[in-house]
Amino acid sequence: MLEPVCKADVDVVIVGAGAAGLAAAQHLTRAGLTTKVLEAAPTVGGRMTTEKVDGFRLDRIGRLLSTSYPELHRTPGLNTLALRPFSPGVLLHSDGRHHRVAAPTPRSARGALTAARALASAPRLPRSQSSRPGPLGGHLDQTRLATALARLAATPPEGLLTRPDLPTAQALTTRGLPPRTVNGFLRPLLAALLCDPDLTTSSRAADLALHSFASGRLCLPEGGADTLPELLAASLPPGTVHTGVEVTAVSTTTVTTKDHGELGCRAILLATGARAAALLLPGLRVPAFHPVTVLHHTTDEPPLTDPALLLDADRSGPVAQTAVISQVDPSRAPDGRALVSSMVLGTPPAAAHLDTAVRAQLARLYGTSTTRWELLAVHHTRDAVPAMPPPHDLRRPVRLLAGLYVCGDHRDTGTVQGALHSGRRAAHALLMDLGARPAATQERLETAA
Ligand SMILES: Cc1cc2nc3c(=O)[nH]c(=O)nc-3n(C[C@H](O)[C@H](O)[C@H](O)COP(=O)(O)OP(=O)(O)OC[C@H]3O[C@@H](n4cnc5c(N)ncnc54)[C@H](O)[C@@H]3O)c2cc1C
Repeated sequence: MLEPVCKADVDVVIVGAGAAGLAAAQHLTRAGLTTKVLEAAPTVGGRMTTEKVDGFRLDRIGRLLSTSYPELHRTPGLNTLALRPFSPGVLLHSDGRHHRVAAPTPRSARGALTAARALASAPRLPRSQSSRPGPLGGHLDQTRLATALARLAATPPEGLLTRPDLPTAQALTTRGLPPRTVNGFLRPLLAALLCDPDLTTSSRAADLALHSFASGRLCLPEGGADTLPELLAASLPPGTVHTGVEVTAVSTTTVTTKDHGELGCRAILLATGARAAALLLPGLRVPAFHPVTVLHHTTDEPPLTDPALLLDADRSGPVAQTAVISQVDPSRAPDGRALVSSMVLGTPPAAAHLDTAVRAQLARLYGTSTTRWELLAVHHTRDAVPAMPPPHDLRRPVRLLAGLYVCGDHRDTGTVQGALHSGRRAAHALLMDLGARPAATQERLETAA
């Protein structure tokens, strides 16, 4: 149990215990400041929460992290975070077949833009019936794609940000890749990575997403998305995090809560998400958001033994990506059950129609009947991911004025990496204003992917 908030002076009050607020608390605490993190919900994590049902662990988030996200390795408190990788690259489904698209290996990314063998066809599905070329085209097209991915992996993020910033859908037509590669692979991959079905996102943000994909492995936190914020919270000094405390007003030196009185402090950091931040500080920009729905099904047999992320190159239904999550992380399902999680982008149809359409598409993608699968949960998040249309500022200011700061994925990129990185930037700005020394002054504030 957390002790009740009392009216005591503290250096910094952080409003919101999502990934951004908790990362900031880690940096500030390690620099020697006292902090209180006030969270309105009963648990920490914000959008990174995990519902526990009958032995299943069901994430609200669309779960695509990358082992190459720098902040996963640099945020204090995450050193014991276990990441469960998907199999390399992705599995692309088209015309009744699965095609493996492997990201380039680090060696091929460094030296060999000759990575012609980065792509290989996976075994046919049982229902396979087509001998037409797959969505990746012939050998030459595949070599060009492998080369493009290897080049992206080898380019430092700062180099990617010198490219013109266009809507991603438009930029993809200028990259010298065949339409088949763009439509059959890059569009579905980027839609899933950016949670943006129309690819209106800044092409620089898309390049960073492809850089992460090509230089690391897609992965998820072992045990559930909430493992990450829980680890951050658990390694803060006891009494730092207070859940069930809703903040209703802020100034530079006082925080007012709904049911727990006021708290005095030297500085305040808003880490609430963009919409709630603008309620507390009218005038703060609220971006548009991409809505996302995650459906969790269970069945007694895994429909695919490969722990792969599966994309539908034919875009034959509402599902943007799906995976047998229990094959990636067995702790997500009880013994003898398989957990299949699927992500739908945009505003979904009514729940009953949605499940019918999703099951029909999953039957095609996995090549098996889904009629007896059990639906465990449908999580719809309207404000899931902040939109990042061009021109997108990847380092939106985190210092509003001395004593008042803001962080969250809406100040960076709309990803867990962006949220963690914004927390670090805000902590640095705050420490500079207070004349304190960041724990690691040499750390560069790198561009987030
Ligand atoms: C469905 C879905 C799919 C996603 N897919 C991916 C993905 O594949 N890869 C990826 O990297 N990212 C993904 N994301 C985005 C990622 O989850 C977010 O970028 C990240 O979790 C944002 O963290 P945050 O700390 O900025 O905000 P939040 O997690 O929103 O945290 C804000 C916190 O502030 C609290 N709060 C709000 N108002 C108050 C108040 N007045 N008083 C006290 N507390 C308050 C909230 O309760 C919340 O806990 C996805 C998100 C969703 C929802």
